[in-house]
Amino acid sequence: MAAKRPRTQRRADARATKKLVHDRERLWLLSPGGSAVRPITVVSPAVIDARVAAMRCPQCESDYAVREQEATRTGDRVVSVRCKLCHVPRQIWFRLGSAAAN
Ligand SMILES: [Zn+2]
Repeated sequence: MAAKRPRTQRRADARATKKLVHDRERLWLLSPGGSAVRPITVVSPAVIDARVAAMRCPQCESDYAVREQEATRTGDRVVSVRCKLCHVPRQIWFRLGSAAAN
């Protein structure tokens, strides 16, 4: 019976880690750029690369490698990135601000 304890503890640790990862992802989805409903407003597509370069992975604080940038039908920009350290893929949403209407 004593042998069960470490295994139970490991399972509990794994659950806690999974919850932490899950919570960080939820937080990311609620932060600017984390979803289609919360795009980061920029005045020009030219500044998107710099904005992405300044962002950090919510899981490990590392920076991103950009894989591709797409324009949606509504004109938003979606940048697909992958964390350089933990390799979690992510999409960052941008919207061109009112200055682009000129
Ligand atoms: Zn990461």
